[in-house]
Amino acid sequence: MLSYQTIKQLSKIDLHRHLDGDVKTEVLYRLAEKDKIHLPVSSPEELEKYFAELRTENFVDLLQKGFGLVTSLMQSEENLYTVAYEEGRNLAEDGIVYAELRFAPQYHTGDSLYYGHQSKNKLSYQQIIKAVAEGCKAAEKDFSVSTKLIVCIGREVDAEKGREIVHAALACLDEVVAIDLACDEATYPPERHLRAFQETFDTPLGRTVHAGEFGTQRERNMWKALKRLRADRLGHAIPLAENKELLAYVKENKIGIESCPKSNKYIGLISKYTQLGIPQLLAEGILVSVNSDDPAMFGYTLTDTLCELAGEEKLTLADVMKLQQNALEMAFLDEEERKKIEKKMMGEK
Ligand SMILES: [Zn+2]
Repeated sequence: MLSYQTIKQLSKIDLHRHLDGDVKTEVLYRLAEKDKIHLPVSSPEELEKYFAELRTENFVDLLQKGFGLVTSLMQSEENLYTVAYEEGRNLAEDGIVYAELRFAPQYHTGDSLYYGHQSKNKLSYQQIIKAVAEGCKAAEKDFSVSTKLIVCIGREVDAEKGREIVHAALACLDEVVAIDLACDEATYPPERHLRAFQETFDTPLGRTVHAGEFGTQRERNMWKALKRLRADRLGHAIPLAENKELLAYVKENKIGIESCPKSNKYIGLISKYTQLGIPQLLAEGILVSVNSDDPAMFGYTLTDTLCELAGEEKLTLADVMKLQQNALEMAFLDEEERKKIEKKMMGEK
């Protein structure tokens, strides 16, 4: 059996990781004190306990209260910079050498104090993207990690706003490598933002879509994401292993699968890791990787995720290495950058 230490020490890649899902409580507390924002607690330790209790409640509570609190502290360029910088520290601590970090600018416009609340923008989408990118750049130097940005559309916004978010991503091609469609898949199917995705078709931006995660239309949504939104990668794709046609399409078109097993289990979308069929996907040559999703928010790391999955599925070190190689292959990198990360994974400078 693979030990925790073995997996922790591996040079890893995380391709599906939300910035607002990975802010440590000490950072949150520091930002709240600086901005004089009232918190329901009076020390970083109590804040940690507050989150631990939220995690035992239902997922909707954690979404509203947990993400609500975190995003309320990500409403200025200064704080976005800090969160992005601290994310570099989190990555390094978990042995991650390359990560694609995603965030939805619509939740950081300067006056949205609660998750999903929209009003007039104080920060432009471009300002938000640039602030995050600056924080990442500083972190790359200090923590020796590499990062790229994925801009998400929180799919509840209307189609016009979705397009505006994509326009901002297109104006920041030095900072952003792809767009994503995130959040409530059950209520808002992929084609709601078809036009926004169409605007990236002949551009350098990659496309990934959260699909096959929530609701009763998961397979349908995966097809729509692939065929209409031309997704290069799918986030979650929980029922993939059970659908022969989807499997064949994903294999033939080298679609990258960003599996997030521990997140799926935490939210209650699966009860056992075996339901994802990851050994089967590996055996069939599917480009599947294992990712963290919202590590600090849900209270785990990528190492924890890989350890639990490896334990339950009896994965070997070669299997875990294959998952890393797949992640490298499906990463939104050019070939030169990919080679650099590969060297880093092998321990070369
Ligand atoms: Zn996600």
